[in-house]
Formats: sequence, structure tokens, C-alpha cells
Amino acid sequence: MNILKDLLLHVCCAPCSGGIIETLLEEGTRPTLYFYNPNIHPFDEYERRKAAIKEFAQKTGLAWADADYEPDQWLTRVKGLEDAPERGLRCQACFDIRLERTALYAHENGFKIMGTTNGISRWKDINQVRKSGMRAVAPYPGIAFLDRDWRKSGGIERMNLVTKRENFYQQTYCGCIFSNKKAM
Ligand code: SF4
Repeated sequence: MNILKDLLLHVCCAPCSGGIIETLLEEGTRPTLYFYNPNIHPFDEYERRKAAIKEFAQKTGLAWADADYEPDQWLTRVKGLEDAPERGLRCQACFDIRLERTALYAHENGFKIMGTTNGISRWKDINQVRKSGMRAVAPYPGIAFLDRDWRKSGGIERMNLVTKRENFYQQTYCGCIFSNKKAM
């Protein structure tokens, strides 16, 4: 029995997600991909990232769901944390809002387990992602968080390989307006 058959996988972008998706497929898991990333700014960048990962979902034949673009809600959540450094409190809140919504979608749609591609980048604090995931599922006793370090077992190398092979669009900043300003 594959306990991951009911996996809802929150995806942030194609480069972070491609290798993880291929690993899951190899293991016999066909996750439903869920795109909820109100942090991404501006809107055309949001659309570009979404289009890239959605195209890969179609290519792999995976189920796809995406939520509304809600940048105002995201900005409200990170108010006062605008100047926090990457890996700081703004990023923690950013993971929280995205994984809370993923958990709600999992609850409303009968998923038993949820995970995220958020932690694979070496620029992210994997412990922040882990904490957000655990907190997000806490209100729903029937849902578990897939607590897995995707960087391990060649995960980073696979991410780079799939990104190159698929010629994914590669962004130059993490996603929010604050990370974009820093990259400029
Ligand atoms: S730097 Fe990235 S993880 Fe941190 S708040 Fe901005 S978009 Fe979110």
C-alpha cells in the first residue's frame, strides 16, 4: 500500500518542484499539485512561474489545483517584517500562510497527507518550512505533514538536472517584492 497516494503537494515553482515530482513518481506516488503563492510579485512573474510548473504538471499527467492570487492578504500577514532578512521572520510568516492554505485545501478535499517543495532551495531555512508544515496540519487530525528533506539523497543535483533538461524558467529572486528589491 502506498501511504502517499493521497498526497497534496504544495509547489512554489518549476525549478524547486521538478526533481521532487520525479522522485515521487519513481516511488509510485502521483501527488496532486497545489499552487498557492501570494508572495510572488509582480503579477506577471506570478503568472510566469505558475505557467512553468503547470506545464510540467500537464506533461506528467498529474492533477492540478490552484488558488486565487491574494497579494494583499500576504502583505497584511508580513506587515512590520518588510525589512527582515531572508531566513528571518518574514519568511516564516510566508511559509505559514502558504501551508495553512494548503492544509485547508487538503482538509476540504479529503487528502490524508500534504507536503511542500519550499524547503529544497539552499537559500531557505528547512526548519522554518518544517515548523510551518507541522503547525498547518495541527488543526486537522486526519492530515499528516510529509516531513522530508528533499535536499538529501542527491535531491539538489536532481533539481538542477531536471531544471536544465526541461529548460524551466528560472527566476532571479525568491519571489516577494522585498527579495526582488534586494536582487536588483
Ligand atoms: S524571501 Fe522568499 S520565502 Fe522569504 S518572504 Fe520573500 S518570497 Fe517568502
